[in-house]
Amino acid sequence: MVYFFAAGKSDGDASLRSLLGGKGANLAEMATIGIPVPPGFTITTEVCDMYYKGGKTFPEGLKAQVNENLAKLEAETGKKLGDPTNPLLVSVRSGAADSMPGMMDTILNLGINDAVVEGLIKKSNNPRFAWDSYRRFIQMFADVAMDVDKENFEHALDAMKKRRGVSLDTELSADDLKELVQEYKVIYKKIKGEDFPTDAQQQMWLSSEAVFRSWNNERAIYYRKSNDIKGLLGTAVNIQSMVFGNMGETSGTGVCFSRNPSNGDNYFYGEYLMNAQGEDVVAGIRTPQKMSILESRMWSDANTISEADRVANYPSLEEKMPEAYKQLVGVRDLLEKHYKDMQDMEFTIESGILYILQTRNGKRTGSAAVKMAVDMQKEGLIDDKTAVLRVKPEQLDQLLHPRFKAGTKKEIIAKGLNASPGAAVGKVVFSAKTAIEWAEQGKRIILVRIETSPEDIQGMAVSKGILTARGGATSHAAVVARQMGKPCVAGCGALHIDYNTLQMEVGGKIIKQGEWISFDGSTGEVYLGQVETEEAVLSGAFGELMAMADKYSTMKVRANADSPKDATIARNFGAVGIGLTRTEHMFFEGTRINSVRKMILSKNLEDREAALAELEPMQKGDFYGIFEAMEGLPVIIRLLDPPLHEFLPQSEKEQEEMGKLLGVPTEEVRQRVHQLHEFNPMLGFRGSRLGIVFPEIYKMQIRAIVDAAIELTKKGTKVIAEIMFPLIAVKQELDILVTIAKAIIAEKEAAAGIKAHILLGTMIEIPRAAITADEIAETAEFFSFGTNDLTQMTCGLSRDDSGSFLGAYVDQGIFEYEPFQVLDQTGVGRLMKLAIELGRKTKPNLEIGICGEHGGEPKTVMFCHEIGMNYVSCSPFRVPIARLAAAHAAIKGLK
Ligand code: PEP
Ligand code: MG
Repeated sequence: MVYFFAAGKSDGDASLRSLLGGKGANLAEMATIGIPVPPGFTITTEVCDMYYKGGKTFPEGLKAQVNENLAKLEAETGKKLGDPTNPLLVSVRSGAADSMPGMMDTILNLGINDAVVEGLIKKSNNPRFAWDSYRRFIQMFADVAMDVDKENFEHALDAMKKRRGVSLDTELSADDLKELVQEYKVIYKKIKGEDFPTDAQQQMWLSSEAVFRSWNNERAIYYRKSNDIKGLLGTAVNIQSMVFGNMGETSGTGVCFSRNPSNGDNYFYGEYLMNAQGEDVVAGIRTPQKMSILESRMWSDANTISEADRVANYPSLEEKMPEAYKQLVGVRDLLEKHYKDMQDMEFTIESGILYILQTRNGKRTGSAAVKMAVDMQKEGLIDDKTAVLRVKPEQLDQLLHPRFKAGTKKEIIAKGLNASPGAAVGKVVFSAKTAIEWAEQGKRIILVRIETSPEDIQGMAVSKGILTARGGATSHAAVVARQMGKPCVAGCGALHIDYNTLQMEVGGKIIKQGEWISFDGSTGEVYLGQVETEEAVLSGAFGELMAMADKYSTMKVRANADSPKDATIARNFGAVGIGLTRTEHMFFEGTRINSVRKMILSKNLEDREAALAELEPMQKGDFYGIFEAMEGLPVIIRLLDPPLHEFLPQSEKEQEEMGKLLGVPTEEVRQRVHQLHEFNPMLGFRGSRLGIVFPEIYKMQIRAIVDAAIELTKKGTKVIAEIMFPLIAVKQELDILVTIAKAIIAEKEAAAGIKAHILLGTMIEIPRAAITADEIAETAEFFSFGTNDLTQMTCGLSRDDSGSFLGAYVDQGIFEYEPFQVLDQTGVGRLMKLAIELGRKTKPNLEIGICGEHGGEPKTVMFCHEIGMNYVSCSPFRVPIARLAAAHAAIKGLK
C-alpha cells in the first residue's frame, strides 16, 4: 500500500504508473537514476480505490505502513515530523496514472505549528522564511483539507500589504508574516468554530484524505470526462520531504519544459521565481522570469522591455544562478533521453542547491506534438513507428483549423504571451458562466479573464479562445488551453478588466461584454473586431509525419465531398478517393430547388420527366467537376436519398384553419404544434424506395453520371465511378435498380464506342441488409456502411432528436460514448463484422468501406481496420486524422 523513494532506495519505478500514479512512479525512477529528488513515499492508487469502496475510510493496516515509511523518511532526512527541535516538513500531493494538471489537491509545508515554527527559525536562522511557510500552510491546509475558502486568507494578506504600503508578498517582513499567522488562526477559528489543528500526524492524515477526496471533485470528474480518461483506480498520495524555494535570494522555484510545448521548438522553455513556492509561479501575481538568456530576450523583445531593464529586473535563471541552471540543463538532457519524450519538470532551488520535484511527459499542442515527433525521429531518439504513435490523431484537429487571412488589415490593441496557437474570433465575455450560456445560444465567444482557475474549465471548453491579463506560459489558462487545442493569449497586461461593469479598458479604448475581438495565439496579438480567417496550409513536419504514417497503414482514407471544391481540399489532405457524394446537397444550389420542387409537385410522369430534364445538365456538370478533381481515384456517387418533403417549404396554412375552428390564436396553435412535433426518424419514403417508385429520378442521375464519365474518359481523364444505392433492405430492391443502371450504362457505352469504369454497389445501413449481406453481395460490387442510419436502426434511436437524453445515457455508462459520434462497437460493430464476413463469403474481394460520420473518428477508424475494411471515408478536414488513426491501428496490430 506504501512505496518508499530515495536515492538508491526506491521501492518502485516508472513501470508502476497505474499503482503509484505518474508523479510517484517518476519520483521513484528519478531517485534511482541519480536525479536529486527529495525523499518520500507514495500511498498507492489502490488505497484510493479501497478508501471509496470502504465508505470513505482508510483500509486496515494502512496506518502501520505509513508510520513505518514515515520512520524511514525521518531516518533518511535526519529530521522528525512535528519535532520542534529538528522538524521535518512534508508536502502532500496528488498524482493519478494519467496526469490531470491542476485538477486535484496539494498541500505544502505540512508539519508546522507554533512550536515547530520556532524550531524552524532557530535551524534556518531565517524567521521570515519560517513565518512565510507557516502562513502558506494555514491557508492551503484550511482551504484544501478543511473547506475554508482561501479567499478569506487572501483578503487578510491584501489588507496587510495595503497597511504596509507594499505590492508584493516578498516585501512583507518576518513580523508582518507573524502577525498574519495570528490573523489566519483567528479567521480559521471564526469559520470552523475550533482551533487550527496543531498535531502534525493529524495534519498529515487529514491532508491525505483531502487528496483522495479531490479525485472526485467536480473539476477532476469533468477533466476525466472531457479527456476520455477511464478505468483508473484513483489518485496516489505522495508524501515528500519539503525543500524550500522561499528561503531567500538564493532560493527559488520553477516549472520548465525540455522543449517548447507550444510550437515544438527544441530549446529549454520555462519560468521561475526567486524566493517563492510553486503556487507563486502559476498565480501570476509576480511576473515569472525565463530559464535561458535566449528565451528571456525573446520575451523582453515581445514586451518591449529594454535589455538593461531585463537584466536588472527580469534576468534569466542562466544569468541569475548559472551553476543551478547548468545542472538543470544536465537534468533536462538526462530525463529526455531516459523517457525519450519531452519532459515537463518542476524544480526548487534551496539555498543554491537544486532539487527536482516532478517530471512527466509534457502536454503539448497538436503542432508541437507533430514537430517534436518528427524532430526526435531525426535525432535518433525514437524510431518511425514511435514517432507516428506519439501524435494522437485527435491532436491533428488543431493544425487543421483556420488562421487569420494573410494581408488582412488588423487593428492591434494589445499584445500578450502567445500561449496556444490558432486564430480566435468571438464576442467578449468575462465569466465562465456567461460563456456557457452564450455558447448554448450559438454565439461565438472569447473568454476574457484576469486569470483563470480550474473553476473556469467548462467556460473555457465552450470558448473559441481564452485571453487573460495575468499569468505566464505555465499559467492555468495557458496549460489548459493548449491541451484543449484552443487558441490562448495569456498575461496580456494591457487589459484592465472590470468584472463589475463587464468591460475592459485597453490602450484608452473601452470594450464591453458582447463586443467582437480577435486574437492570434501564435503571435500573442489581440485585435479589435472580427478579423477574417482562412484555411490552414499543411507543410513541413506535418507532411513528413503523414508520409511516415502512410508507410504503415493498410486501410485507405477517402472523403465525403459533394462539390469539386471539397474534393480538391480532400485530395490535398491526402484522401485517395471519394467515399460519399450526397447528391441531394446539389439540389439546393442556386435556382435548382425550383426544378426539384416542380418535379415533386408533378402529377404525372410526363411533367416529372420535364422537370428532371431541367436538372440533368446541372447534375452532369457537378459529376464532371468532381471526377475531374479526383482524376485517377475512385468516386462514389450516391443517388438521391432523403424523403421528398425535405425539399418543400413548411406550410402554415393548416395551422391557421385549425386556429379559426377552435377559437384560439394561430400563434398558440403554431407553438403547440411546434412543441409536439417529433422528427421523422427517417424510416419512410426515402432512399432506394424513391428509385423503385419513381425510377425516372434515378435514371436521370445515372445518365448524368455516365455522360460525365464518358465525356472525361474520351478526353483522356481517368475516371473511376462507383454508383451507390442508398437504404437497401432487400436484395430484390438492388436487383431492380442495378438492372436499370446496367441498361443505361450499356446503351451509353455503345453509343460512345468506349467503356466507362463504373461499379454498382450499395450502402449497408439497414440491419436487414447487414444480416443478408451474402445475398446482397451477389448483386453489389461494393459495400459502404452508412453507420448513421445503421446506428439509428440498430439501436432504435432517432438520429435527429435523441440528443436530449443520450448525454444521460453516457453519464450512466449505458453507452460508453455517444453512439452517433463514436461507433457502438459491441452492437452496431457486431452487425458490421457479420456483414463483412457474409459479403466476402460471396465475393472474397468485395470492396468495403464506411461513410457515416464515424469514419473520421479515431477509435472507430481503428475498429474498421480491425474488421478488415478497405477504406474509411470522412469529411475532408478529418482526412489527416483518419490517416493517422489508420497508421496507429496498423502499427499496433503489427506489434
Ligand atoms: C449514413 O447513414 O451513415 C450515411 C452516410 O447516409 P446519410 O447520413 O446521408 O443518411
Ligand atoms: Mg444513410
